[in-house]
Amino acid sequence: MSTGLSTVSYLGATILFILCLGGLSNQETSRRGNIYGIIGMVIAVLATVFGPHVVSSVGLPWIIGAMVVGGAIGLYAARVVQMTQMPELVALMHSLVGLAACLVGYTSYIDTSIALGGAEKTIHEVEIYVGILIGAVTFSGSVIAFGKLSGKIGGKPVLLPGRHLMNLAGLLIVIYFGHGFLNAETVSQGMAPLVVMTVVSLAFGVHMVMAIGGADMPVVVSMLNSYSGWAAAATGFMLGNDLLIVTGALVGSSGAILSYIMCSAMNRNFISVIAGGFGSDGGAPKKAAASGGGEPAGEVTPISVTETAELLREAKNVIIVPGYGMAVAQAQHAVYQITSLLREKGVNVRFGIHPVAGRMPGHMNVLLAEAKVPYDIVFEMDELNEDFPATDVSIVIGANDIVNPAAQEDPGSPIAGMPVLEVWKAKTSIVMKRSMASGYAGVDNPLFYKENNRMLFGDAKKTLEEVYAALE
Ligand code: NDP
Repeated sequence: MSTGLSTVSYLGATILFILCLGGLSNQETSRRGNIYGIIGMVIAVLATVFGPHVVSSVGLPWIIGAMVVGGAIGLYAARVVQMTQMPELVALMHSLVGLAACLVGYTSYIDTSIALGGAEKTIHEVEIYVGILIGAVTFSGSVIAFGKLSGKIGGKPVLLPGRHLMNLAGLLIVIYFGHGFLNAETVSQGMAPLVVMTVVSLAFGVHMVMAIGGADMPVVVSMLNSYSGWAAAATGFMLGNDLLIVTGALVGSSGAILSYIMCSAMNRNFISVIAGGFGSDGGAPKKAAASGGGEPAGEVTPISVTETAELLREAKNVIIVPGYGMAVAQAQHAVYQITSLLREKGVNVRFGIHPVAGRMPGHMNVLLAEAKVPYDIVFEMDELNEDFPATDVSIVIGANDIVNPAAQEDPGSPIAGMPVLEVWKAKTSIVMKRSMASGYAGVDNPLFYKENNRMLFGDAKKTLEEVYAALE
């Protein structure tokens, strides 16, 4: 493929990626956005593999072999992964981008066929150093995020004494060895500072994510998303690949915007998040323990399936608040059935979506869209939070942290200040879950003990199907 055709293909792919991002910002256009992204990626891969950068056809079978193996693993993972495991899979994918940046960085440094001198050499080495640094932080941070999201690593933050000082020391070491790396005369001389920096960056990634409390994980996930974009952009600089630079920058900046949205949703300070100051004073775990952590306190009032159906039959306004439990139970289709039935009977049914509901941004929207719930009855938290007092029944399906009044009522709570859906302001609130277990943040939920709240215990899908049968 000629250089001209390759450039035009890259331009086309870039435009398609931008259209893809634009499409993904809205539920109704997201499917189209995805298709743009797929076409853009196919063009990008073909233009790279058959483009002028692959100089000898000797390497082609290797590239195609690697693509077949990688594609097969990706296809297999996509087919077997459960919807509830998606966030972990995304974290794992981010780690691979980081790892790729590191490997490309080392390869570019060792590659003696690139003969550069003077300023060009320095710029190339800065690209390598920074690329490996971002890649290593993304890699180890994402592996820990994977562990935390999959429950393999506990959700409680690990706060080492003097952690800010340790981070500062790490930064100084990285700068010091960066100086040594840039002044190295030979590859073998530069290798030692590069390895030290990589180890420090890996440790920093682990330390950073280990220090994050459960409730702050959404911010970390979107930040690692952003980091993976910057790692890809850094790889693009190292390889001199314009498309990778643009694509990486798109992912990096959209991830940064998402982090900002997540911070606002959780009432966290963006600057302190960037500086690694998650949980502001690092007090989350202590406060969690002080307020009883996940230990339930008080008495709850259970409700039966028949009583729930009766309440719904008499209601005029119903708000449904789905959470992570709906994803676990795969209850979205049962939710849709009940919604349709109630709407046929003239009940005004709406959905309230919290920005951090579930385990990844947009988790609930994806599930509801999959079940064909109409978009026009799905609202953001801010759009309907004021409507709860005029609501007859609010139904909480497998949600916990996002409807926890402690965020407003208990200044000592680890989730204090986080905006929540005020379901308890409805005439009656019904919480569907299996037990009294706490949510991801590990905090007890005073909602369960409120006078107008009822607990409908059981697996959300099974219970909803029973409610549907009773309603019919
Ligand atoms: P939570 O994790 O707070 O609560 C989910 C609840 O669902 C649990 O209390 C559980 O109770 C219940 N549940 C689990 N399985 C079932 C089932 N089969 N049937 C019925 N209920 C079930 O979820 P929320 O959506 O309320 O809040 C999200 C939390 O996740 C927040 O703390 C957020 O910070 C965090 N988070 C969000 C991310 C994001 O990007 N959205 C990323 C990472 C973390 P029980 O076991 O008793 O059934």
